[in-house]
Amino acid sequence: GTQIVADKALRTLAETMLIDHNELHVTTSIGVTILDQDSKSVDAVLRQADTAMYEAKNSGRNKFQFFDPDMQKKAEEKNRIQVTLRQAMNDNQLSMHYQPKVNLEKNEVVGMEALIRWTNAEGKSIPPDVFIPIAEESGQILELGEWIFKQVCQQINIWQDMPGFKDMVISVNVSALQFKSGNFHQLVKESLSEFNIAAHQLELELTETAVMSNPELTVNELKEIHKLGVQISIDDFGTGYSSLNYLKRFPIDVLKIDRCFIKDIGEDIYDEEIIKVMVAIGHTMGIKVVAEGVETQQQLDFLSDIGCDFGQGYLFSKPLNSQSSTEMVKNIPSAFSSYLIEINQIMENPDIKVELLINKNDPA
Ligand code: C2E
Ligand code: CA
Ligand code: CA
Repeated sequence: GTQIVADKALRTLAETMLIDHNELHVTTSIGVTILDQDSKSVDAVLRQADTAMYEAKNSGRNKFQFFDPDMQKKAEEKNRIQVTLRQAMNDNQLSMHYQPKVNLEKNEVVGMEALIRWTNAEGKSIPPDVFIPIAEESGQILELGEWIFKQVCQQINIWQDMPGFKDMVISVNVSALQFKSGNFHQLVKESLSEFNIAAHQLELELTETAVMSNPELTVNELKEIHKLGVQISIDDFGTGYSSLNYLKRFPIDVLKIDRCFIKDIGEDIYDEEIIKVMVAIGHTMGIKVVAEGVETQQQLDFLSDIGCDFGQGYLFSKPLNSQSSTEMVKNIPSAFSSYLIEINQIMENPDIKVELLINKNDPA
């Protein structure tokens, strides 16, 4: 019964309305909850319906959704992360780690990627792929993103006078939302001069999906940033939908092949062929190519053979805290490879099992 009513409401509201000679198109999201003996109060019931409605919105709008208790739990956990993240920013619970990027031909570290880490008040680490999407949803990513960006600039400022750092490039992950305002390039420009760092030692990583979600706006911001001399890298390449036409128009310096392709080297001939094509696309356009998530010698051999420029992954090094990465920078160029192996053995393991606050598999 409920379903029929909800369906009818959706269809009726979806019809074009004519107001003042203007055609209006409306889509509707409906949340439904069922009263039972456990229903505590009117408020509680309305909240459930509200939660279900947000779920309907998030799963593509123009639909209805029944409430289930899991939804409530997920919403509460999300809410908890938002609240505690605000605290974390003020409480020094956040820090940046750095993962080396290696030139596969010369076997040299050419740069590092900055990755955020969060250890909460109870000492648990919360992975960025859990809290970054939540911060994006709440808008907190704007403040967080600025903090991350300045933190990295400050680190470059500290490293820039060390001999080993001379030709290194440090990359920062940037969210699509940070580009929406259309003045991210302003922050970049100001930070370069505030921290007195050379633009060519800075690189921004944007996911393919982020770039393609609003290509017109992104292309302008990217051009402004590129003009400053900062490098641009397309992250998770191969997982979204890139128009080659856009790729050509964008000021891109680096493509990062997503780990999901790299992990199947030696097992999936199609993935191997796709990797070859991605490297070829990059090189045809004068773009360097990075393979992410390199874990085995077999993967490394394949990537070297096909002329992939750079690699990143646990085979070389896990992300290191800023102290360990400073040690590494200091010791380059002397015997980098043995040094990395050593440092990997002594450093704390950042990938120890963490208790997730929310289930990673939930398509939140
Ligand atoms: P990403 O940008 O694709 O980063 C690569 C992720 O793969 C990192 O996870 C890194 O630790 C992990 N990784 C590196 N090598 C290997 C390997 O050999 N094997 C495996 N299994 N994993 C490897 P992490 O640090 O947990 O970050 C996850 C995602 O969270 C990042 O994916 C990025 O999308 C986001 N993220 C992390 N830090 C930041 C940040 O500062 N700002 C923003 N906006 N997003 C961030
Ligand atoms: Ca990245
Ligand atoms: Ca990636």
